[in-house]
Amino acid sequence: MIEAKLLEKDISRLVAGGLSQSFILRRQEIEGYNELAQSKLKKRYSILFDVLKEPMVFLLLSCGIVYLLIGDRQEAIMLIFFLILIISITVAQETKAQNALQALRDLSSPRALVLRDGIKQRIAGREVVREDLIFLNEGDKVPADAVLISDSSLSSDESLLTGESVPVEKKRQSLIFAGTTVVQGQGAAIVTAIGSNTEIGKIGKSIQFTSTESTNLERQMNRLVKKAGWVAVLLCLSVAVVHANVKESWLDGILVGLSLAMAIMPNELPAVLTIFFALGAWRLSQRRILTRRLSAVENLGAATVLCVDKTGTLTLNKMSVQKIYSEGLIVDLDNQSNFLAEEFHEVLEYGILASQKDPFDPMELAFVNAGIRFLKGTEHLHGDWSLKKEYPLSQELLSISHAWKPNVGGEFVIGAKGAPEAIIDLCHLSTNDAQKISQTADVFAREGLRVLGIAKAYSKSIPLPTKQHDFEFNFVGLIGLIDPVRSEVPQAVEECLKAGIKVIMITGDHPTTASSIAKKIGINNPDKVLNGTDLEKISDHELISIIKETSVFSRVMPAQKLRLVNCLKEMGEVVAMTGDGVNDAPALKSAHIGIAMGKRGADVARESADLVLLDDDFSSIVESIRMGRRIYANLKSALIYLFAVHIPITGMAIIPVILGHPLVFFPAHIAFLHLIIEPVSSIAFEMEPASSTIMNVPPRKLNANILSRAIWLPSLLMGISILLALLVVYYISLIRGQGEKEARALVFTTLIISNILVIFMSRNPELSFLERLKSKSTKVIKYFMISSLLMLCLVLYNEKLREIFSFTFLHPIDILICLLAGTLSVIWTGFIKVSTSHNQLSDMVKEKINSH
Ligand code: ADP
Ligand code: MG
Repeated sequence: MIEAKLLEKDISRLVAGGLSQSFILRRQEIEGYNELAQSKLKKRYSILFDVLKEPMVFLLLSCGIVYLLIGDRQEAIMLIFFLILIISITVAQETKAQNALQALRDLSSPRALVLRDGIKQRIAGREVVREDLIFLNEGDKVPADAVLISDSSLSSDESLLTGESVPVEKKRQSLIFAGTTVVQGQGAAIVTAIGSNTEIGKIGKSIQFTSTESTNLERQMNRLVKKAGWVAVLLCLSVAVVHANVKESWLDGILVGLSLAMAIMPNELPAVLTIFFALGAWRLSQRRILTRRLSAVENLGAATVLCVDKTGTLTLNKMSVQKIYSEGLIVDLDNQSNFLAEEFHEVLEYGILASQKDPFDPMELAFVNAGIRFLKGTEHLHGDWSLKKEYPLSQELLSISHAWKPNVGGEFVIGAKGAPEAIIDLCHLSTNDAQKISQTADVFAREGLRVLGIAKAYSKSIPLPTKQHDFEFNFVGLIGLIDPVRSEVPQAVEECLKAGIKVIMITGDHPTTASSIAKKIGINNPDKVLNGTDLEKISDHELISIIKETSVFSRVMPAQKLRLVNCLKEMGEVVAMTGDGVNDAPALKSAHIGIAMGKRGADVARESADLVLLDDDFSSIVESIRMGRRIYANLKSALIYLFAVHIPITGMAIIPVILGHPLVFFPAHIAFLHLIIEPVSSIAFEMEPASSTIMNVPPRKLNANILSRAIWLPSLLMGISILLALLVVYYISLIRGQGEKEARALVFTTLIISNILVIFMSRNPELSFLERLKSKSTKVIKYFMISSLLMLCLVLYNEKLREIFSFTFLHPIDILICLLAGTLSVIWTGFIKVSTSHNQLSDMVKEKINSH
């Protein structure tokens, strides 16, 4: 009964044009937004809780307790201080990552088509209020619970709510639910509940829009961390036992074991990955590219093939009528004012009759606009006729027909428009006529025009027939539509080719049009086109050999996209594929990187995709590939840095203990080092810009081990060299009888100095001097450098701190020694690194030549 009441009210609102802006604002103020509330406080607590679970926190706490047990209160306080600092840094980083992801979720929540203030508009799903009038189409995600007020065979997939996997046809049940998907039909509905009052909100299920499933790299890294963790535990246990026996003090042994564990634990690695991917996704969103799966960011840098739609992605999808053909005559509308010769009027007239009255489709819009321009005041416009039946486009027949009832006479008038071959088919033309028409279509298409054939028919039969083929169509003419290429596309295509990425155009359009556009934008082999009908006839094996030299695929059906993706994958390519329709979902899912169009795309396509382009623009794809490569390059720098500095720390924690010499690093020293290492690796390296040459090299191999020679070689070189320098400083100072404290101070200072240099040496070698100078990361690195030197001065020259750190006073000559040892140990590896990176480049070039 509630429904019936709603209906009456709603019909009147339909007439009134939906809710008004002021009403909506009031509603939102009272009832809030259409989203599942999640308290901010709770989120902050959960981040804190996660951080507290980190092994580093546990280690520091245990050390603190041991110190308290030994009775060393100062040392314990120091550690707690470090602990708080480290926790705050980690919480800040984690919050930054979480905020970035949250912003993405907000952006990628589904949209809704509503009628407000008399205007049909697309708004963010969270803005929907109760009693909004929403329109639903095939492929849409229902934004809120609503009651249907009109629909044509709408059915929705409610499996999310019920677990039922069969679509429910909305005949008797006129309620539709938030979070479900429209799989068929269309409808209009009035919103009855939003946010947590919806069915899905009530059962507390959250709709996840940005998945944070771990990326391949994260998995690799987690495995590594786990392995290293076990090694650390074993090492620490044995060292602790040995030390405890030698010193005959268990607490001492435990302390040594714990500080060793802190030194070895590569706990920054997972944190670095999380930050890099979350912030990478956030950076992409700044360029209007939404990341739905973080793994896409990783895969992007490795993409080898880009399969893109023509219409809307490479072109603007803004069409206008350029040429008309009728009975052997062609007119080019560019050189005409608002005059069109009478012979061509009928072509436009039936083109418009075969379109919606108030069209959305760019082609139909072009017809209607041409009608306004050329047919105004003639007898060829029929605004007062009523539409009786629509015959939609199908995969078998690329044409649309509309049957109209004129004001006078009992005969229906039917206008049809569609692919020339479909219209020829409908008109049952003689071979001769058909040939002439296809030749003209080809002439149009060769100029890059989209060609549509127009036909007309009359019928008296009631009811109207069910198929377009049941009418006796007469051919009327051809219309050539221009859809300009996006101006930034040719350059973006060139960039892809230079970056070793193949660009493949997939379109439903005519082969000649496709080939002409391909030529305009600089795709390889534009003259070689494979048609969907031919694609159907060949085996996968043949297709694979054809794909190797073909970049243009025309008259392709969505199902064939999936086949193309799978064949490309079989060829070992890393495939990025764009799509917008409901039928594109399988291909988007199958591709390594599925890219949906934000403007045109159906919600279903958006949800199957890894990336959503809010501007539907091809150059955004290239932009995201660049970003993927940049993230990977910066990750390399961070890893080189992390491994390089961990080697001397670990070495100095183990070697003296094994040799029975005094312990060099106490937990406080290691905590101090962590305070520098962690933010540098995650903040500074994350900010590094992309080098100008980043798109001049072929893509990296997907799933290649991240710990390639390019990473372990430089880090091993630097790490071992620093370790040797530290050992030399340590033992010379011990041998000269300067005492344990002086040796420790010298070693620590040397390590801090070399650490700073390692930061610089780990930076991407491809970055030019100027790029470095201008980058924000340089500023940040400078800041870290200065603050770590200040901190060093503090612990060296503040009496109290010096005591806690077990240092002695260092004289200028000591500092000079540290400077020399720290600098020399790192600098020399630079020369080797230059030559290895050259080798790598030539390796890559060789590989590229071989693959062609
Ligand atoms: P694209 O890949 O370029 O987006 P589509 O799949 O949208 O191509 O369309 C494929 C073909 O279907 C078009 O070239 C045209 O012949 C026909 N077609 C598409 N939309 C319409 C329409 N609204 N009316 C008539 N024919 C259409
Ligand atoms: Mg299209």
